[in-house]
Amino acid sequence: MKALLIAFDPSELEPLARFGAALGAPFDVLLLTGSADDGYGASEMLLAGLATVPPADGLAKGIASVAEGYTHVAAAASMRSKDVMPRVAVLLDAGMVTDAIAVLDGKTFQRPIVAGSVIATVTVETERVALTVRTSAFDPATPTGSANKRSVALYCPTAVARTSAESQASGGRPDLTQAKVVVSGGRPLKDAGTFEKLIGGLADALGGGVGATRAAVDSGIAPNEAQVGQTGKIVAPELYIAAGVSGSTQHLAGMKDSKCIVAINTDGDAPIFEVADFGLVEDLYTAIPALMERLRP
Ligand SMILES: Cc1cc2nc3c(=O)[nH]c(=O)nc-3n(C[C@H](O)[C@H](O)[C@H](O)COP(=O)(O)OP(=O)(O)OC[C@H]3O[C@@H](n4cnc5c(N)ncnc54)[C@H](O)[C@@H]3O)c2cc1C
Repeated sequence: MKALLIAFDPSELEPLARFGAALGAPFDVLLLTGSADDGYGASEMLLAGLATVPPADGLAKGIASVAEGYTHVAAAASMRSKDVMPRVAVLLDAGMVTDAIAVLDGKTFQRPIVAGSVIATVTVETERVALTVRTSAFDPATPTGSANKRSVALYCPTAVARTSAESQASGGRPDLTQAKVVVSGGRPLKDAGTFEKLIGGLADALGGGVGATRAAVDSGIAPNEAQVGQTGKIVAPELYIAAGVSGSTQHLAGMKDSKCIVAINTDGDAPIFEVADFGLVEDLYTAIPALMERLRP
């Protein structure tokens, strides 16, 4: 077995190496953009040196072109990897596992289904395996120092004219699915300005990403791409702060695997407290400014 781990940028190197270690096979990393020194155990780091990530159809061809000789090709689960990796699987004639959270052996993995309420064991019957991986489900990887590096030229011919649609609202914040800290807000945030000031402000103070409930998104308080849950993004950061979030099953499906959950809610009986590690029964309009005040350098 040998794995090729696809890192869209250097921030994905350590999370991906967690999966590499769990697989128990040697692995190389293909770093698409940027550069890095530490390979976290990678035998070799292939540097693609792309200025921007190409559209999924072209990128899949580029990845497939360097994936010969690898039994596993894996990327961290994110909106963009979910677009690219199934295409890579087709090109490599590989079985596909999405959202892997555990490795049982080289062909058998676990993944959540039914909005996270059931864990399925999936066995791949093809020779090669393509995966997206929920990296936060695996133990942190240890730095191993400078990796062997090699530049690779990826040819990514695309039929798509548009190259990317960066979120206007992200404001340079980390990608929600990769962020170590996520601060989410719900319906009580009133309007977009208040949401940005309180939820965005606390997220910035903690260097985190911004999430939202569907109720907040549907009422125009929060941007679409911030939605966490069954019909939004799946996140599992080290710290998830939910402010004014009731904790519907649909929202929990997107965040209940977070390492530490903090809930701020005026209703002590809100379902969010059932999954929270720390709960604050308080008005978010008082609690969040107080937290931000404490975090001020
Ligand atoms: C098919 C389907 C898919 C769905 N997918 C998703 C999904 O992906 N993600 C998602 O989030 N939802 C999803 N939903 C919607 C979900 O059912 C809930 O309606 C939604 O999550 C509720 O959002 P909320 O917690 O912001 O709002 P509410 O349910 O209105 O809860 C607001 C909470 O804030 C508390 N509160 C009020 N004022 C304050 C204050 N000043 N300070 C602190 N706390 C306060 C209240 O006590 C309450 O608990 C889906 C629904 C369906 C039917």
